[in-house]
Amino acid sequence: MAAGAPAEVETPVGFIPQNLPAAPIDINTPYSVLRSIVSPSTPCDVEPPSETCVNIPATTVSSPTLSISTISDLTPTEFGEVEHSQEQTTAHHDTFYFEDGNVEIVCGDTVFRVHSTIISYSSSKLRDILSPPSLLSAPMLEGRPRITVSDSAEDFAVLLKMIYTPGFLGRKKVPNFSIFASLLRMTTKYGFSDVREGLVEDLEAAYPTKWEDFETAKIIGKNIFGSPKPHPNAVLNLLLEQRVRFALPFAAYRAGLGGSSALSTSKPGIALPRPILASIIHGMGEIRRMMTHAAYGIVYVGNLRVCPEKACVLNVGINPAERRVEALKKISDVMVKKSEGDVLSSLSFGNLVCTDCANLLKYGHRDCCKELVWAKLPSLLGWESWEGI
Ligand SMILES: [Zn+2]
Repeated sequence: MAAGAPAEVETPVGFIPQNLPAAPIDINTPYSVLRSIVSPSTPCDVEPPSETCVNIPATTVSSPTLSISTISDLTPTEFGEVEHSQEQTTAHHDTFYFEDGNVEIVCGDTVFRVHSTIISYSSSKLRDILSPPSLLSAPMLEGRPRITVSDSAEDFAVLLKMIYTPGFLGRKKVPNFSIFASLLRMTTKYGFSDVREGLVEDLEAAYPTKWEDFETAKIIGKNIFGSPKPHPNAVLNLLLEQRVRFALPFAAYRAGLGGSSALSTSKPGIALPRPILASIIHGMGEIRRMMTHAAYGIVYVGNLRVCPEKACVLNVGINPAERRVEALKKISDVMVKKSEGDVLSSLSFGNLVCTDCANLLKYGHRDCCKELVWAKLPSLLGWESWEGI
């Protein structure tokens, strides 16, 4: 130390200001200037303190030097235990928290305590997650390793229900959408291919890819799911997320039936990605214009005969021409209105025409649906044809 220099005073750790100027500071320097010298760019200097602004540089909170003399000085964290504060933010799952479980799995703020042998036995991907090296490197809590996974607690609970209760898979009915979605996500992610195939079969029946299958399907769209029925957008989002491609055109059509306000909802879970939304709105507009045009063709140009049925308004021998014109207008109105809703559902003319004439109109409409609308469904999501999916 140079002679004459002030005696070095030990500065307490944690109070060393950063960016001190090399030259001594004049004691009369105004505080505002001092602050700008010491800490030129802290937010406190720039903005007036509209609210309390605490800006503590990380270096001012340095840890005291640890002095460990015995093993008992080590904190639980240093042992690899989970910090108490983390424990306080998590809750045990109501069902899948077994006292005799040997491993804990954390999903968000939910903790499952399960048996590693049972979980590992069910899937090779879960076996990897619970492999001895993974467990050894995991933090410990009360002597059990704690593994964190990225799934939601709801999804993971459904996965565990599937693993622990085999009867759960022997279901005859399609489960409600929430459980179905969890099962699809979890079986895909963790490689339960046989279970996933069963779920996909459920979808194949309700989200057909061929006109013939659509015509013979007993239940279509979201109606396959148990109660409560999901929003069609939620189904579409799940199928997009899980890449169930074959089902997408029909799912997009079912979502499109909700109209632009339902399609463009911003609610979580049912909000659609914007390109998907735009594509469906555009495609549904095309389908509706096409079918409106077809309706006029069916009524005025094509199939209608001079009906021999006495009670039918289309019997030109009994009814005056103007009555027939009026009837044709009503028929075309029914068909145009249909083109604004679910084009693919069956037409109904009530008592407007006789059964034979109604059937004739229905056949014409069905042919248009089969040849035009069905071929157009892939375009709702930008595909040119069903073959391209
Ligand atoms: Zn008739």
